[in-house]
Amino acid sequence: MARKPMMAGNWKMNNTIAEAVVLTQEISNQYDKETWGEDVDIVICPPYVDLKPAKTVLDFDRTKIAVGAQNVYWEPSGAFTGEISVPMLKEIGCAYCIVGHSERRELFGETNEDVNRKVKALVEAGLYAIVCVGESLAVRDEGTTEEFVCAQVRAAFAGVDAADAQRCVVAYEPIWAIGTGRTATPEQAEAVCAAIRATLADLYGAEVAEGMRVLYGGSMNPGNVEGLLAQPNIDGGLIGGASLKCESFVQLIEACL
Ligand code: PEP
Repeated sequence: MARKPMMAGNWKMNNTIAEAVVLTQEISNQYDKETWGEDVDIVICPPYVDLKPAKTVLDFDRTKIAVGAQNVYWEPSGAFTGEISVPMLKEIGCAYCIVGHSERRELFGETNEDVNRKVKALVEAGLYAIVCVGESLAVRDEGTTEEFVCAQVRAAFAGVDAADAQRCVVAYEPIWAIGTGRTATPEQAEAVCAAIRATLADLYGAEVAEGMRVLYGGSMNPGNVEGLLAQPNIDGGLIGGASLKCESFVQLIEACL
């Protein structure tokens, strides 16, 4: 089954509102409605405060580029100081949300259970979750990468039915490749992405798994994108550093076409 590729930019904690508007406008200026609008799904995930300004630019220019958040809390409202809820994201027009990024797991103690609660809250509200999984260098050196990553996938999707799972994208992001300039080889990335798809097939059946997108993330850039996208189980990228410059992000989008 042909899956539509996706390029998602994770801006992390970068860009003030003014800077976000400039970068979003630069990307929007390159928008080609014949190809970008039809043949690839494009998402930018800026910090919370930039979501509305970025969405305003993209909507004003009538692009199909979507905005996504980088995190969310699973309760709809209440005494959760500092948190942002799914209804808040929805009101902004946010279609996507990253969950379980390794920086959230490592720096903020996010657990597999937290990731699962976030996935459920998002899909129940009709948003698309970009579910991040990935192993540390220690796990890779131990030789248990696939086991570790597939357990993260099972935990993230626990209690999520097939219809809701189809609102999710899985991003395989080896921690040792994030922001390090050290990319997984296409063969290494493909092996894990294939194992992720096999796990999804085990959970939801082959047909559902064949329709779900699995992205690679970890120092993807215009120089290495081609080899990664050539792999049968890699359907696009979750991009950190290279999404912060219009030129490189546009090159990555074009590589999907
Ligand atoms: C990320 O943080 O999701 C990521 C893939 O970062 P980078 O592309 O900078 O490695």
